[in-house]
Amino acid sequence: TQYGTSPPIYPSPNITGTGGWEAALEKAKDFVAQLTLDEKAFMVTGSDGPCVGNIAPIPRLNFSGLCLQDGPLAIRQAVLNSVFPAGITAAASWDRDLVKQRGVQMAEEFKGKGSHVILGPVVGPLGRTPFGGRNWEGFSPDAYLSGVFVEETVLGIQSAGVQSCTKHYIGNEQEIQRSPRTIHGTEVDAISSNIDDKTIHETYLWPFANAVKAGTASIMCSYNRINGSYGCQNSKTLNGLLKDELGFQGYVMSDWGGVHAGVPSIEAGLDMNMPGGISFTGGATSSFWGGNISTAVTNGSLAIDRVDGMVLRVMTPYYHLGQDVDFPVVDESTVPLSLFSRANRRYNYTLGPLVDVRAEHAKIIRELGAAGTVLLKNVNGTLPLKEPKNIGVFGNDAADLTNGQYSISISSGLEAGDYDIGTLPAGGGSGTGRFTYVIPPLDAIKTRGQSYGALVQYITNNVAIASGGLSSLSPTPLDACIVFLKSWASEGDDRTTLIAEWNSTVVVEAVASTCANTIVVLHGASPNVLPWKDHANVTAILAAHFPGQETGNSIVDVLWGDVNPSGKLPYTIANNETDYNLRIVNSTELLESTDPNAWQDDFKEGNLIDYKEFDAANKSVAYEFGFGLSYTTFELSDLQIKSAVSNPSRVPSSSAKIIPGGNEELWQTLVTVCATVKNTGAVDGAAVTQLYISFPAEAGDKTVRSLRGFDKIMLAAGEVATIEFPLMRRDISYWDVAGQNWRLPSSSIGVDVGFSSRDLKLNGKLTV
Ligand code: BGC
Repeated sequence: TQYGTSPPIYPSPNITGTGGWEAALEKAKDFVAQLTLDEKAFMVTGSDGPCVGNIAPIPRLNFSGLCLQDGPLAIRQAVLNSVFPAGITAAASWDRDLVKQRGVQMAEEFKGKGSHVILGPVVGPLGRTPFGGRNWEGFSPDAYLSGVFVEETVLGIQSAGVQSCTKHYIGNEQEIQRSPRTIHGTEVDAISSNIDDKTIHETYLWPFANAVKAGTASIMCSYNRINGSYGCQNSKTLNGLLKDELGFQGYVMSDWGGVHAGVPSIEAGLDMNMPGGISFTGGATSSFWGGNISTAVTNGSLAIDRVDGMVLRVMTPYYHLGQDVDFPVVDESTVPLSLFSRANRRYNYTLGPLVDVRAEHAKIIRELGAAGTVLLKNVNGTLPLKEPKNIGVFGNDAADLTNGQYSISISSGLEAGDYDIGTLPAGGGSGTGRFTYVIPPLDAIKTRGQSYGALVQYITNNVAIASGGLSSLSPTPLDACIVFLKSWASEGDDRTTLIAEWNSTVVVEAVASTCANTIVVLHGASPNVLPWKDHANVTAILAAHFPGQETGNSIVDVLWGDVNPSGKLPYTIANNETDYNLRIVNSTELLESTDPNAWQDDFKEGNLIDYKEFDAANKSVAYEFGFGLSYTTFELSDLQIKSAVSNPSRVPSSSAKIIPGGNEELWQTLVTVCATVKNTGAVDGAAVTQLYISFPAEAGDKTVRSLRGFDKIMLAAGEVATIEFPLMRRDISYWDVAGQNWRLPSSSIGVDVGFSSRDLKLNGKLTV
């Protein structure tokens, strides 16, 4: 069947430097020419060192090694650094410039701390199921939206001279059984994400293509299996899709401990083994690679050309980004935080003094935190607040952290259950950050209230709220009650509920039963289901995601109207948890099974995830993908569809160049769609106009519509602007499995433009 096997694709392609890396490739060749066989082996095998991942220095050649650090929202193993908004917040802003700036500023911090490679951004998990523990590290279950933001992020990061490692490739959609486990003495393999060719192209590979297009230096292969074959030794996904089809010019790095073989993984396309040993803390002889690479070359079982090709892939982006010149050293704060001390090979690093890399980054963190906040409900003119005199603040998520830093690893530090009272500005695991400070919502509200003499009363203990605590407040009634709820998610920890934890329903009902103006703010993993959303006293709801260190300031900016909300949902909020078809594969029976092949996950729904699932089933939802309110209103008119290229061929020309990202014609604009947007309200605000296309039946699946463009523009009250959506060949083609190519449909494609996936004011058609 289409799921059972992963076809063999060999040999592993060499790079050509195409796309602007030609000069860097020449420098890399000179470097490789000077290496001994053992040195080559350790240029691709992680060693001991101060960072999460380390490639050892070669002092003889003035090469000071590579320092790889987590992760997607902050440099985690460091102090005096910033914690930025998570990927989910970035996506909810629908703001290309802010997201790119986030990339630039994060990278400045990594570079300042001597880190050459950021282990991020994340587009796998994509977010197939809302229960996935790591969805928040990435952007959106919509492949197009994720593609746009991974591209901006990679461009931002690399413009600051740091390599991005886009991860986890591919199909890593759940945490449970992501890696093999030993059950009653038998090794049971990691879950196999079984994905058909059409779905992999149209959904899961899509954002990786954007990352490659943006020039990502590295791609991290994932722990899971894909169609039966491990992510870090799958020749179809690595040699075939990534290196051949997408023309990827950088290196494939393993996820930590994701390598399960020596020569076979190398031949399947893996270029760097991290952290180097078989286990996280392996000893000197424990690597599948390292010295074994030299042995394999010497005894003829591995071609030296392939090893040279691997080192060239590693060193070309290094030279391209100028990392050979004056790159800062790793600072002393890193080592004590290192969770990955290995004895694979020991090196003495010279560490620099502690540096504070935060600069003015708090500004953009606060701004993006607000921009990524989505206003879901706002009745009776509740928001923006108009200087209420008697404010109530409720919920454990309003308060400052009371139990220290959140877990920075999946195996050490505090776990979800240990954090009752304290706001949740980031999720857990390797994708989190260490805070130098957090502005909790309660503090920011106190400061704001004090500025005009308001009374701020609060209860941050959910048990106290649930057991009648509000009766202690006086005077009442309160003018505005703001309830803060939180939802945990972490690497290694898929979600078990989509309802905010810590008794959230009882908390909201307790507040709403006495307060006619109850405003609910959700922090943390999303989507959540909101059982109390239609309560008459719940007058406003905001999904505030994971805003990072300025969380309290970001929400106050929106609540009091200094910032007009412009965030839109990058996912769907269903009415009930059971409305989402896709759950984590898990059961007591599976957990106990000794069948090595027991864990299978067939992606039978194909492209129909998130809104595509709900649209195909014509199911009602609580808040649809793309939805979000503003304090002003907008109007759309005048749809225009213009072709930019007449009579394009159905498929991209096979003689066109393969650039990073694939056949270059895929990235060519074929059609331009224009519309006019007007701010019809009384205040300034940003409109997020969205373009969806509907393929004709020949495209071969049940997707009703797919996002293919969006535009965010700030408009003063009354202002009008014309916006433009360029559609590339790729945007309006479907993957033709039989033809093994992207194909433009010959019948017409529907074009809808509006303010959400279900609010589509302008409708047209295009034929190419
Ligand atoms: C995670 C990666 C991370 C690595 C190093 C792994 O367990 O899956 O995302 O970069 O650890 O911390």
